[in-house]
Amino acid sequence: MSRMRVFCIANQKGGVGKTTTAVNLAAGLAQLGQRVLLVDLDPQGNATMGSGIDKRSLPLSVYEVLLESATVAEARQPSPKGGYQVLGANRELAGAEVELVRLERRDRRLKSALQTAADDHDFVLVDCPPSLSLLTLNGLCAAHGVLVPMQCEYFALEGLSDLVNTIKQVHANLNPDLQIIGLLRVMFDPRITLQQQVSDQLKAHFGSKVFDTIIPRNVRLAEAPSYGQPGVTFDPASKGAQAFLAFASEVVKRLGP
Ligand code: ADP
Ligand code: MG
Repeated sequence: MSRMRVFCIANQKGGVGKTTTAVNLAAGLAQLGQRVLLVDLDPQGNATMGSGIDKRSLPLSVYEVLLESATVAEARQPSPKGGYQVLGANRELAGAEVELVRLERRDRRLKSALQTAADDHDFVLVDCPPSLSLLTLNGLCAAHGVLVPMQCEYFALEGLSDLVNTIKQVHANLNPDLQIIGLLRVMFDPRITLQQQVSDQLKAHFGSKVFDTIIPRNVRLAEAPSYGQPGVTFDPASKGAQAFLAFASEVVKRLGP
C-alpha cells in the first residue's frame, strides 16, 4: 500500500497566500527528505513560475493529465531549486474546465492520475484556484485533506464558513476521506491588535485544527517568486523561510506517512 498523502491548499479568496504556502511547504517538506509533488491547478500558473518553471514553455502540463492524454510521470518536472517535482499549469488549463464538463468522471480525473504515481511521492500538494470550479473539485476529490491558509482579518471567519460548507458537501457526496486538516495563519503581524483578536477567535472556534506555526508577513517571501524559487531556498535565514520550515516539520509530525 502506498503511503502517499494528498493535500489541497484551498481558500475561495484570492491573494490570501495559497500559492506561497504551497510552494514553500513543498520546499520545506523536500528539505526534510520527503518526496513531494506540487500540482498547480490554477490557470494563472503562479505555483509553476514560483517553482522556477516557465509556464509559457511547458512541454506537458496538468491540462493534458486531466484530459488523459499524458500521465503524471510524463508531465511532471523538477523545480530547479526547490527539490520537488511540479505538475505545471498555464492558461490552457482554463480550457480544461470547459472540456471536462462533457466528459465522464469529470471530477475524478486528478484522483485517477495521481494513483498511477502513488509510489513516487510521499506528499502531493495541490495549489487550488480561488473558486469552487471543476478544477478545485478535482483537487478536493483527490485529497485526504485541506490546508487552509488565512489572514487574520475582520471577515476571515465569515469567508471560512463557505469553505467549511463546501468541504462538508464534498465529504458527503464525493469524497468520504476529505476533511479540513488545519488552518494556517499567514501574513501575520503581531503588532496589529485586530489580528491577535481574530487569531484568538480562530483558536477558540477551531481548537487543534489551527496549526501551531504562524507565518509572519515577510517581504522575502514576496520577493522569492520573481527569482523563480521558494522563499525557503531563496533566503533560508529569513523569518518567513524559518516559519515555513517549522510548518513543514509540524505537517510531517501531524500527518506524515
Ligand atoms: P493566493 O495564491 O491565495 O492568491 P499568494 O500566495 O499568491 O495568494 O499571495 C498573494 C500575495 O501576497 C503575493 O504577492 C505574495 O507574494 C504575497 N504574500 C504571501 N504570503 C506572504 C507573506 N507571508 N509575507 C509577505 N507577502 C506574502
Ligand atoms: Mg495562487
